[in-house]
Amino acid sequence: MDHCDVLIVGGGPAGSTCAWTLRRAGLDAVVLDKAAFPRDKLCAGWITPAVLALLEIDPGKYGRDRVCQPITGFRVGKIGGRAVAVDYGRPVSYGIRRFEFDHYLLERCGARLRLGEAVRGVEQAGRRWVIDGRFSAPMLVAAGGHFCPVARRLGGEVRAPVVAAQEVEFPLDVRQTSACRVEPEIPELYFCADLAGYGWCFRKGGFLNVGLGRVDGDGLRGQTAAFCDWLKREGRIPRDAPARFPGHAYYLYGDSPRTLLDDGLLAIGDAAGLASERSGEGIRAAVESGELAARVIAAAGGDYRRSRLAPYAEAITAALGPRQRSAGFHLVPGAICRLLGGKLLESRWFVRRVVLDRWFLHGDLDRIIPANGREPPARGCYPTDGGPGTRSGPPG
Ligand SMILES: Cc1cc2nc3c(=O)[nH]c(=O)nc-3n(C[C@H](O)[C@H](O)[C@H](O)COP(=O)(O)OP(=O)(O)OC[C@H]3O[C@@H](n4cnc5c(N)ncnc54)[C@H](O)[C@@H]3O)c2cc1C
Repeated sequence: MDHCDVLIVGGGPAGSTCAWTLRRAGLDAVVLDKAAFPRDKLCAGWITPAVLALLEIDPGKYGRDRVCQPITGFRVGKIGGRAVAVDYGRPVSYGIRRFEFDHYLLERCGARLRLGEAVRGVEQAGRRWVIDGRFSAPMLVAAGGHFCPVARRLGGEVRAPVVAAQEVEFPLDVRQTSACRVEPEIPELYFCADLAGYGWCFRKGGFLNVGLGRVDGDGLRGQTAAFCDWLKREGRIPRDAPARFPGHAYYLYGDSPRTLLDDGLLAIGDAAGLASERSGEGIRAAVESGELAARVIAAAGGDYRRSRLAPYAEAITAALGPRQRSAGFHLVPGAICRLLGGKLLESRWFVRRVVLDRWFLHGDLDRIIPANGREPPARGCYPTDGGPGTRSGPPG
């Protein structure tokens, strides 16, 4: 039996960030992942600068031998309609490839890695967790993404709306590069007519990523194919771009049925269902919740009863608000949809100030880890109303 302080199931950005922070606090962590890394992960790979800052990654250095595409603006519209381009004139986001990014984070984290074998059995023996009869620890972290086998203990069997998404990422050859009108610095976002999701095309270095996600998953396959055909007819992407789209799913924060903790157990990232309801961004919440969980574990000093882990859930609720099912399953707020449909997406002001500044780039809104400090959270240290971490209402 391999004993350690903390077992982490899942080596994505949530698990590796948690392990990295635990190692820095002097704890012995083991990360278990079913995949051998580097591994593919379905994801557009768009990250906001807050993610790189939290991970202490210098984009210039990281990008020397990996894709780290600066994004200075976006082209936004409705599928089949006109688009508006907004250029900020400076990097406001970056594009990474998960194949490289997740591998880099996992190798760097310093924890012991047990990769290439799926976790199957999770049992409790007294105050310790035992995984597959081989690994044992008093503290367990569920970081296995949407289908995390540990997170199912925390409410994962309840049916709740998910974001279902399909995408393809492929290297552009020389001819495809000249046939691709998507600029690397200006990714393109196109909303579905009912605003229940959006498609994207995103050129990162020599790679193109095209996909579509919807909150209800309704007709996803047909809508993704139609979106891709439309991009080809418009001449935005090469006509021979692959048309096979693998899919994946995840919860947005408000819709997630997962609870965040139990005795000796914390859930982080997609396993907890923490992705942003405004944009579907999930990497930042994964990284922030991973760091927060590790700090709470370190501060608990070996006493992992629920009461000692509670600051984790309190900090998340203070930052993101109580969970509330989104009425009508819309990625963008329902009131806006009902009142204005897609018309506003033709307004440059609306696209910049609301869609981009508030929904996608959102500054310090919804920060689980406050930008101004990284102290371990204590009870009552986060604002519950009116403070900078408070959930905002619908824009407009
Ligand atoms: C198509 C698509 C596009 C997206 N685009 C973006 C984007 O551009 N930007 C953004 O911020 N977010 C995006 N997201 C969301 C983002 O990918 C997730 O929120 C993020 O990956 C969550 O990280 P995580 O570490 O919690 O989980 P994951 O990255 O899913 O990692 C979980 C890990 O657990 C492992 N695992 C699973 N089951 C087991 C098991 N039984 N045993 C052992 N290991 C296991 C997996 O192999 C995996 O490595 C997108 C999602 C999809 C589906």
